[in-house]
Amino acid sequence: MPESRHFVVIIGGAVSGSVAAEILAEAGMEIAVIEQNDRPYGKIEDGLPRWHVHQRQKEYEKINGRLKGTGISFVPRTKLGRDINFKDLTENWGASAVLLANGAWRDRPQRLEGAEDLLGRGFEYQNPFIYWFNHQHETGFSDRQIEVPDGAVILGGGLASIDCVKVCQIVNYQRAFQERGIEVDPVEIEKKGVAKLCEAHGIADPAELGVKGCTLVYRRRIQDMPLAQPAENATPEQMEKTFAARRKLLEIAQKKLLFHIQDQTLPTAFITRDGRVAGLKLVRTKVEGRKATPIPDSEHNLETALVISSIGSIPEKIPGVEMNGEVFAFKDWDLGVYDAEKGIFGVGNVVTGQGNIRKSLLHAQKVAAHLKDSYFRGALGAASAEAVKEHLAAKDPLPPDQVQRLRQRIQELQERVKYDDYEAWIKRVT
Ligand SMILES: Cc1cc2nc3c(=O)[nH]c(=O)nc-3n(C[C@H](O)[C@H](O)[C@H](O)COP(=O)(O)OP(=O)(O)OC[C@H]3O[C@@H](n4cnc5c(N)ncnc54)[C@H](O)[C@@H]3O)c2cc1C
Repeated sequence: MPESRHFVVIIGGAVSGSVAAEILAEAGMEIAVIEQNDRPYGKIEDGLPRWHVHQRQKEYEKINGRLKGTGISFVPRTKLGRDINFKDLTENWGASAVLLANGAWRDRPQRLEGAEDLLGRGFEYQNPFIYWFNHQHETGFSDRQIEVPDGAVILGGGLASIDCVKVCQIVNYQRAFQERGIEVDPVEIEKKGVAKLCEAHGIADPAELGVKGCTLVYRRRIQDMPLAQPAENATPEQMEKTFAARRKLLEIAQKKLLFHIQDQTLPTAFITRDGRVAGLKLVRTKVEGRKATPIPDSEHNLETALVISSIGSIPEKIPGVEMNGEVFAFKDWDLGVYDAEKGIFGVGNVVTGQGNIRKSLLHAQKVAAHLKDSYFRGALGAASAEAVKEHLAAKDPLPPDQVQRLRQRIQELQERVKYDDYEAWIKRVT
């Protein structure tokens, strides 16, 4: 029989799930990490475009290091909302706490009329687009292939939209080089830039390749793009530095990959031909603070056969999880408290939206630290008056038979997918 202890179930094993698992396991708790995919790398594998070779490998190793730690059971190929019912998990399993670390995998819906009908007919969303780019060359790839014609339009302004722009440019330049009998690797195009590659292959001017280039359409100014974040309560001088950093980042990307930008521009409608996207109607905007207002008589058209919407990612709906608009109904966003009484919390992108790796990691650390220092203080046996007070309000560790029942459940879920040991499994599914 195990001893009394806390048992925490974490949904999602990527950056934030694995960080929270490690912190809580180190505090003596037993952890089960439930992951829908075979591999627990989340946005690192399927969101970061594949030219981030070293960053991805580094993050994979960090996640592996955390998840194979003592006290952590990994359950792959098991999805909350499909294989496990949310209400059953939170009301009947009897775990000390449930942490939702399932990220943000649904694209914020594009409100342009007809968008959903045009999906796959010249209109795409960022998440499946990057997934396609990362996996299309794999032998087992069975999803729909995406055509990337020259002159695509990307709607958005964050890091992910720049990645979509880069994918479009890379695909088109790779094709143009190929037409001249030159094989170039996508990673090489991103790293070296088009001009340098042309030089290396004796092409005097990239314009000779005949690529028109894609266009990034952003409603505010370039300096407003969330490509670099200002410090909290930034002074006007610090804000100026952030604006300059954003302009610089974009300038570097543009110099390397030769795309176009229309900032202070809003799409108002699709132009269609034979049931497919043929262009966009756009309008210029006046920007005051965060507000971007259309300027009368500034309407213009942009011809394009592909529009990619990259306007943010939101959590996928899970039956039983209460929503507040397009996000989960967290009561405390800072600490990711969904339901303190039932011990349901959220960490990482599922709470913060489409952040970055560091933001997800810090959020997971903060929530996990809060859990072990406050919510679970009783378990950690802290002795100060403050701690005693909190201890009374906090939960007791689970009795041994309850821990045993939870272990049994997790083991059954692992057996269902023929999972044995973390390293052996990762080797098998890689
Ligand atoms: C195109 C793009 C480019 C980016 N570029 C950068 C960059 O350059 N630098 C940077 O720092 N950050 C970047 N990011 C952001 C960064 O990748 C994420 O912020 C971070 O990895 C999120 O970690 P997470 O653990 O919170 O979520 P995720 O990585 O999304 O992990 C969630 C995990 O939960 C699993 N899951 C989901 N639903 C369920 C379910 N129902 N049941 C079981 N498991 C489930 C998923 O499979 C996944 O493994 C980028 C993101 C995108 C999309």
